[in-house]
Amino acid sequence: MIPARALAALLLAVAAVTGCGKSGSPPVKGPQPEDLPAYKVDSAFRLPSSPTWERARRRGHLVVGAKEDQPYMGEKDPASGRYSGFDIEIAKMVSASLGFDPKTIEFRTIASANRETALQNGQIDYYVGTYTINDNRKKQVGFAGPYFMAGQSLLVRRDEKDIKGPQDLAGKKVCSAAGSTPFQRLQKEFPQADLVAYDTYSVCVDNLLTYQVDAVSTDDSILLGYAAKVPEELKVVGKPFSKEPYGIGVPRGDNALRFALDDALEAQEKNGDWKRAYEATLGLSGVPAPTPPPIDRYPAS
Ligand code: GLU
Repeated sequence: MIPARALAALLLAVAAVTGCGKSGSPPVKGPQPEDLPAYKVDSAFRLPSSPTWERARRRGHLVVGAKEDQPYMGEKDPASGRYSGFDIEIAKMVSASLGFDPKTIEFRTIASANRETALQNGQIDYYVGTYTINDNRKKQVGFAGPYFMAGQSLLVRRDEKDIKGPQDLAGKKVCSAAGSTPFQRLQKEFPQADLVAYDTYSVCVDNLLTYQVDAVSTDDSILLGYAAKVPEELKVVGKPFSKEPYGIGVPRGDNALRFALDDALEAQEKNGDWKRAYEATLGLSGVPAPTPPPIDRYPAS
């Protein structure tokens, strides 16, 4: 039998996913379109040296990979199909710089483990979804940015007493996403933890709320969003124990697109769009806008 507390947690998890709040406590909803900044479309922009940009021009719009289950970062409203969050705003602001009206973007949900393949086989033009820049991934894809700095952290149930940081994970069931840097770090640096991997973090969180795992580990930016949805059930513990610089993933070798995206990010950090986007999305979870990390315009590859 499911204990009453677990059942309550399960119902809350279902409510969080389906958007049905308990009476009197409406669910945390994504920002409404009228609350979000508008980005100026550079309609004179041309980038014929980028095969990705040319393909999008012929198609008439951009196809962008994203996440759909990460509150405040990349979230899809199941009713309207609308994507919202900080990553989604980044995708929109750089789209405007590339000359494409952000309203025309076709978003596609791509899980952590499938990002490199999606970029390599042309399923998407670029990817914006808590995507850590690292040397290993740079062998397969390119990265514009970084546009944000996150760090690996831990999410536990509010009643958890034993887990205060990664040093307490030995023998505990810990969940993360397949193909993610946090999962790889746990495997390498905390092998005594009992690791489980799913395609998405929301499945991990459901498993946490139903007492099937003891902790979920990934970037603090993602975990704080889940905790904010059910603060009476979940908390983020300890200090971040890695650096996760987020980049915009592009097909490897399309240096023209990568440098154009670097230019766009730099300009939008300067003109205030980046800060406005942050405040309208991730900032709602209570953390004031940080200074974005410097753009790393690494040489053409
Ligand atoms: N930033 C980490 C990564 O790129 C974790 C978040 C994610 O899986 O998207 O692997």
